[in-house]
Amino acid sequence: MFYSRDDIDKLKNENVHLSAYYDMYFALREQQDSYKESIELPSINEAVIRQQILEGKPLLGNCGIDLTGLPILFMDLFNVYVRFTNMKSDDAIAAIEELKPDLVGVLEEFLFQKGITQMQALSADSIPAEILVFLIKNTLTPLVEKYSECINSAVDLDVWESGCCPICGHLPALAELKKTPSGRQRFLFCSLCHTPWPFQRLKCPYCDNVEDKETEYFSFPDEENFRVDVCNSCKTYIKTVINNNSDLSPVLLDWSSQNVDDSAARKGYKRAASM
Ligand SMILES: [Zn+2]
Ligand SMILES: [Zn+2]
Repeated sequence: MFYSRDDIDKLKNENVHLSAYYDMYFALREQQDSYKESIELPSINEAVIRQQILEGKPLLGNCGIDLTGLPILFMDLFNVYVRFTNMKSDDAIAAIEELKPDLVGVLEEFLFQKGITQMQALSADSIPAEILVFLIKNTLTPLVEKYSECINSAVDLDVWESGCCPICGHLPALAELKKTPSGRQRFLFCSLCHTPWPFQRLKCPYCDNVEDKETEYFSFPDEENFRVDVCNSCKTYIKTVINNNSDLSPVLLDWSSQNVDDSAARKGYKRAASM
């Protein structure tokens, strides 16, 4: 989804209290979109892709993706982040400088979910792990988005039954209930590449627990666009969009509804992944 400066200003006028989020999103997106244009992906074999999906394997395995250009984008995004937050930049810049030589390895480890040992070792006191994860995810965004867009036409997502993303294998961060002619259908959105895929309504995407009635959910009197679906087996929740009237991107939907996450946490449920 592409937002022009005018789109962002319109959103800001409609939701003044979210202005800072919208501005930061636009600034990050500018960097990501310009990087995205320069990405060249290895050629794609559609038959292999179809077979992998049928076997239930996410596609972004050993597909020869090149991460060596990403540290520059990481630094650009870090500078945007510092500009929009109260982060003490001297300490943070020192921590990031320390991280730089290992950045390609850290990004690769995160992308292919090889564990977070290297990242934990590198996250100094001056830069909290959640900020590092935020920056890493945003750095990988243009690459995984482009990969997803390139292979989407070769992928039949209706045969995919797993709770992890068919494209990159990461966990979903958001769900949406969309009106279709046959009733409401549930879609999940990947926390990394933002790809949506259809998913059973009665199943928890994180532990595969199937409820005999619809998974329990909470709605909020002052928030008509969201609810949270909770799983009492693994005690996680997924934030679910029930009205997307402004047609927001998954990232903006997530960022603009932190109050919903706060309510779910107060009820004792944890979040498995965020955007
Ligand atoms: Zn994904
Ligand atoms: Zn569960």
